[in-house]
Amino acid sequence: ASMREERIEKTKTVCTYCGVGCTFNVWTKDRKILKVEPQQDSPANGISTCVKGKFGWDYVNSDERLTKPLIRRGDHFEETDWDEAISYIAKRFTAIKHQHGSDALGFISSSKATNEESYLMQKLARQVIGTNNIDNCSRYCQSPATKGLFRTVGHGGDSGSIDDIAEADLVITIGSNTAESHPVLASRIKRSHKLFGQKLFVFDLRKHEMAERADRFIQPKSGTDLVWLSAVTKYIIDQGWENRAFLYKWVNDFEAYKKSLDKFTLEFAEKTTGLSAKTMKEIAKEIASVDKVAICWAMGVTQHQLGSDTSTAISNLLLVTGNYMRNGTGAYPLRGHNNVQGCSDFGSMPNFFPGYEKVSDNDARKRYEDAWNVKIPGEPGKDNHQMIHAIHEGNLHGLYVIGEDTGIVDSNINYVTDAFKKLDLFIVQDLFLTKTAEYADVVLPAVPSLEKEGTFTSTERRIQRLYQALDPVGDSKPDWQILMEIAKELGYDWGYTHPSEIMDESAKLAPMFAGVNYDLLTGYQSLQWPVAADGTDTPLLYTDGFPFEDKKAILYPLDFNLEYETNEEYDLHVNNGRLLEHFHEGNMTYKSEGITRKTPNSFIEVSPELAKERGIEEGAKVKLISEAGYATGIVHITDRVNGKELYLPLNDNGKSAVNYLTDNSVDKDTNTPAYKEIAVRMQVLKKK
Ligand code: SF4
Repeated sequence: ASMREERIEKTKTVCTYCGVGCTFNVWTKDRKILKVEPQQDSPANGISTCVKGKFGWDYVNSDERLTKPLIRRGDHFEETDWDEAISYIAKRFTAIKHQHGSDALGFISSSKATNEESYLMQKLARQVIGTNNIDNCSRYCQSPATKGLFRTVGHGGDSGSIDDIAEADLVITIGSNTAESHPVLASRIKRSHKLFGQKLFVFDLRKHEMAERADRFIQPKSGTDLVWLSAVTKYIIDQGWENRAFLYKWVNDFEAYKKSLDKFTLEFAEKTTGLSAKTMKEIAKEIASVDKVAICWAMGVTQHQLGSDTSTAISNLLLVTGNYMRNGTGAYPLRGHNNVQGCSDFGSMPNFFPGYEKVSDNDARKRYEDAWNVKIPGEPGKDNHQMIHAIHEGNLHGLYVIGEDTGIVDSNINYVTDAFKKLDLFIVQDLFLTKTAEYADVVLPAVPSLEKEGTFTSTERRIQRLYQALDPVGDSKPDWQILMEIAKELGYDWGYTHPSEIMDESAKLAPMFAGVNYDLLTGYQSLQWPVAADGTDTPLLYTDGFPFEDKKAILYPLDFNLEYETNEEYDLHVNNGRLLEHFHEGNMTYKSEGITRKTPNSFIEVSPELAKERGIEEGAKVKLISEAGYATGIVHITDRVNGKELYLPLNDNGKSAVNYLTDNSVDKDTNTPAYKEIAVRMQVLKKK
């Protein structure tokens, strides 16, 4: 027996669930996970974790793990070896590239993979294949937040750290079920609220735990946050409560922006949002009268047709009131996956190189071209959503997906899986034979975070190292090694022997990561980007201005002319989100016994009023029908939802997935699916 089998090993790792970025020692003996032990010096969490971080690890030992590459022969998969799998992929890539050009291939990177792996996936796309058709799942969640911040303050990340949220005088959360989706961060807010008099305003459709704790719980109509945000901002300016010194020194375009607010009167906002003018005035007064405001938001804001504009409205409000540049203030889009921030940061984006330099920026492009000795297109590639359309239109023939169950998590999954069937080459790399993998031509067995090294970047832009705790199962391999083998077969021998070398290359090329290296990330040390060449990091952004030429932020004018009404035929609105115990499509949590025992089944939340109207009782079975498809589920009657609002957890073990109901509508600026805008009708299958 090896040493590893004989004694208990304690290995530092980073949680692989949400974006809070909790770190801890995982205790293992052989392959057994004995314990998860957070440390005093865990930067984000200290000695806490939530149930997922503590108990959500059994999936690594699931007997459903893929242990060998699979290759499709007719209508079934056969196990094969790496040599055959890699050479098949390289041949097919080459053939498609010759026949249809580089842009006939697409790449979807994983927010569960490490930063180094995201870097290599975009390097494979850009250097080896010659396309910018690369994206990641931030397209499904937080791209609109990033867009809103780019437009106004210039960095697509949280303005400060979790400590800053804890320090604010007033925390506002919008469309965020923080206690269940970002539990450890929520507990910091709860603590500040309870012990230090921090005020908490919660804007949401559903009365969840944070709503119950909040000083004010406010329920605007679905999809109308932009309107109350703009009306409150206008009211603040009308009253002369804006932060004039800040605006004068640090912000451009105030007058033009002020004019653009004309439309957002309290009367218009009352009509659109359903909130009273009195409520909006009180909110405005409260925001203007405290010193430090931090706003946190999540999918309830971004997964709408106006997700980017609403995120922009949040940033506008913070600018008008001077709530940037200081500790305890700022904008906090709460990142969902452990590494969704890092996956975008390290270049798995159709329009950006690592560190958010545009592919159209000639200087940046030349730097990569020189380093990689190729030409790279200066036009942005296709995002996830455009890739699926392009397959339907016959313009995309090969797709390589790492660690993403696209066939479940993208919207309108019937449309998405129909696209998969049309592909000439479909490669899926994952831990399990997911729903998406069932459509693949080749399935490559990857490893979870505990079986590899690398770094993740959390919601507070914090880059943290994970160390290898277990050996890979069977023939499975880390994504970075698989990517290297594919590149090599295609004639590009990258020759990395350790992920640290990938980070070194990235640090050399991307100014945002100039000073990042593994020595500075040893153990529980971490760095928050941007990191200067001398290794100085940035816990709080914008302290000496905004990253624009004149260092001034931009107030970005907005409009609102959408109607989100249910209609006679589809008379109910479905909201959706996470449960504390489960994570997304559930590929990991449903394979963790400690968790499934607690929450085995999904449900549909129905308000007491609606249950009465439809004559249904707790446990009834219903079918929800939208224009795109249908889903069935068991009814749970609760006053967490109101009237004609339904709530469907999105973690449902693939049974009644929300995405059978969603359609192709998207945020107009980023193509993020409008997951939160589903109108359905309900058919009762069993009354109780
Ligand atoms: Fe993991 Fe998020 Fe829970 Fe922390 S709060 S343990 S990062 S799921």
